[in-house]
Amino acid sequence: MEFKGPAIQKQTRNKRQSTGSGAFSVQKEEHMKILLPYGEYRKLLKRAAACYPEEACGLLGGRIDSEGNKRVEQVYLLTNTEHSRIHFTLDPKEQLAAVKDMRAQGWTLLGNWHSHPDTPSRPSAEDRRLAYDSRASYMILSLKDKEPVLRSFHIENRDAVTAEELVITGTDAEAAVPFQKEAE
Ligand SMILES: [Zn+2]
Repeated sequence: MEFKGPAIQKQTRNKRQSTGSGAFSVQKEEHMKILLPYGEYRKLLKRAAACYPEEACGLLGGRIDSEGNKRVEQVYLLTNTEHSRIHFTLDPKEQLAAVKDMRAQGWTLLGNWHSHPDTPSRPSAEDRRLAYDSRASYMILSLKDKEPVLRSFHIENRDAVTAEELVITGTDAEAAVPFQKEAE
């Protein structure tokens, strides 16, 4: 899928540390965070569960704060027009409507999200190939194991994958993900 939403402010790149695992290297970026309100996180989980075993997908709308952190205001739930458990394509009409809504709210398109019903929370070869925007956040929810795992990534040049620090906000205490348990 392509990102044709409003331009995202260029972010400062920080020192990286390689976690050195897997077939391609996932690097961890310091200082830059993506903040997801608990209610929106729940919404995403619920949707992914409802779509299972198909991949669920959508967009992330929000703001970039003065510290350069991304603050998700709304998780948009879009139709996976492929209805597949290994691929997703965002419904183009819904995509347009979501981006329009973000503009109306004064938000920006921060990235997208999708679920992996059977595989870990890391970009697949196809996810990397289709990652056109190096500034976007690509959030992936894995439902492979008993507990869902949500992670967020940046992808540069289709293969340099950087894990982004993801923080769920709005609960009693701010919780770092991957989330261990559902609240319900
Ligand atoms: Zn994927």
